[in-house]
Amino acid sequence: MSSVEVRVPDLGDFENVDVVEVHVKAGDKLAAEDPLITLETDKATMDVPAPQPGTVESVAVSVGSKVSTGDLIVTLAAEEEAAKSKPGGDGAAGAEAGREDGGMAPAARSEPREPEAREARGPAPAPPGDAAARPQARPRAAAGGADAQLVVIGAGPGGYTAAFRAADLGLEVTLVERHRPLGGVCLNVGCIPSKALLHAARVIEETREMRERGLDFGEPRIDPRKLVAWKNEVVKQLTDGLATLAKQRNVRVVRGSAQFASPDELEIASPDGEKRRLSFEQCILAAGSEAAALPGLPQDPRIIDSTGALELRALPERMLVIGGGIIGLEMATVYDALGVKVSVVELTKTLIPGCDRDLVRPLEKRIRARYEAIMLGTKVTKIEAQPEGLVVTFEGDDAPAEPQRYGLVLVAVGRRPNGKAVGAERAGLALDERGFVRVDKQMRTSVPHIFAIGDIAGPPMLAHKATHEGKVAAEAAAGEKSHFDARVVPSVAYTDPEVAWVGLTEEEAKAKGLDYRKGTFPWSASGRNLGLGRSDGLTKLLFDAGTGRLLGAGIVGVNAGDLIAEAALAIEMDCDAEDIGLTVHPHPTLSETIAFAAEAAAGTITDLYVPRRR
Ligand code: NAD
Repeated sequence: MSSVEVRVPDLGDFENVDVVEVHVKAGDKLAAEDPLITLETDKATMDVPAPQPGTVESVAVSVGSKVSTGDLIVTLAAEEEAAKSKPGGDGAAGAEAGREDGGMAPAARSEPREPEAREARGPAPAPPGDAAARPQARPRAAAGGADAQLVVIGAGPGGYTAAFRAADLGLEVTLVERHRPLGGVCLNVGCIPSKALLHAARVIEETREMRERGLDFGEPRIDPRKLVAWKNEVVKQLTDGLATLAKQRNVRVVRGSAQFASPDELEIASPDGEKRRLSFEQCILAAGSEAAALPGLPQDPRIIDSTGALELRALPERMLVIGGGIIGLEMATVYDALGVKVSVVELTKTLIPGCDRDLVRPLEKRIRARYEAIMLGTKVTKIEAQPEGLVVTFEGDDAPAEPQRYGLVLVAVGRRPNGKAVGAERAGLALDERGFVRVDKQMRTSVPHIFAIGDIAGPPMLAHKATHEGKVAAEAAAGEKSHFDARVVPSVAYTDPEVAWVGLTEEEAKAKGLDYRKGTFPWSASGRNLGLGRSDGLTKLLFDAGTGRLLGAGIVGVNAGDLIAEAALAIEMDCDAEDIGLTVHPHPTLSETIAFAAEAAAGTITDLYVPRRR
């Protein structure tokens, strides 16, 4: 054995860098690449690895030491044989001079401080069921005479993303969609059109609110037909764009409603009723979900779901929204702004179940003051369709004594996955008890050459989850080792004010007995918020009391949905309160409220007075 001095590799412009961890002590046996020490600059945390196997003879640094390029870290009794067998030759020389790749290249990468806490991007985990018995995904070149190398069912955000990514990776892709425009529910009758109408609602409200501040435009003259035409134009621009993108990528679009005939074949019913078969090598099922119906309701055009609500066919005097979740409250925001007296009935005792109460409170306060009624812990027991209106009977905590008459009833009580509608059982796909297709982290179902993504593959039923899953499935189908390892998926209600949350909620933290530190910033202290004519709003950050890392965040206020992305990134990047608070946020913006909440948690906030805890 020979002694090898392992020194700090080239640190570039950095000098006197802090040693924050020493992973070894004299006598430790090391393999090549075992971490010796961790260095931390204000930009990154980096491990310096052992250049070769050996036994530690002495350690020259300790936690708190400051080191620069070339400083001694450890002396190693090198294992000659192992050292020689290392690619690149002489281990001792490598240790002196740094490895052939420059020594610091891998070590200088910014690493999460506890990589094991995060799911590693490694070989894909096994699909559910008997992994050993399962064949691997068919490689692209294995043309087995099928009609399609990859077929994607459903052209919503998940499906078109999967199709486009797969095409970009060189697969021949067929995209089957029952409706003429691509884009699915999100683009055609969901996220996009509702946001266009919500923008109109906001303009109406803001101009009304400015009246008492010296800016009076008079009563808005609302032309619902024109509004709907504008909304449809927004949608068309996007769906036309998708058709172009599909063409540019040579994605074959087949119009029709697909069902599995077998694990290798679809039956596609075209709009004129003609049926044909399409065999495939691999399939990505992205068939989404549909609005859940309430049983026992009369067939009446005045009872609508979220799709019907976007048509603005009627603006009656009174309207009932059944379901105080995201869809119900977003559409209530639109109809309220358009002058309809809105009532909301919600089965549970809270609006937006699953979101922290302190975040929902500002929304609830605002809408309680505006809407005709908010009935919590209450359900509808009967709806009678009469010529002069829909007569609704209620039961529960806030039920009115008498049945109420409404001109319109919106049913927004959740969505159901479309697994059964595509004949998933004929392909042999395993479904869970709620009808979601079971998938692994590569979005692979129990039938290995079939993937499932988006709403059909489990909650949360959100477009942005579907798009990420779509990319993973496409990459896996193309033979890559991608898997879905997002830690968090943000949720947003685009109400007024918006409510957004990501990661751990405070209610979950309490239920799990987690030790957390909270930083909050009330928007009544935000200059930007006041300048927008608002005083409501709150930003809340939850940090792990032990590691200091951000675990969850919630925001309620104007544009909360845009702001929450920073918190999602901070969670993915293992940020603590200092990382966020010391990041310079532009002033005056609502984004500052995130930095202020972090400062509140770190005890450094000056924009509020928080008495010191003793
Ligand atoms: P939801 O699950 O968010 O809300 C449905 C609500 O209806 C719940 O609060 C539930 O308690 C209540 N409810 C159920 N049965 C009821 C009954 N009989 N009477 C009264 N209340 C009843 O569902 P949603 O609002 O329909 O949305 C469906 C899905 O679409 C959700 O997954 C949602 O996240 C997603 N979505 C998201 C967005 C967005 O990201 N902004 C917008 C629209 C929809």
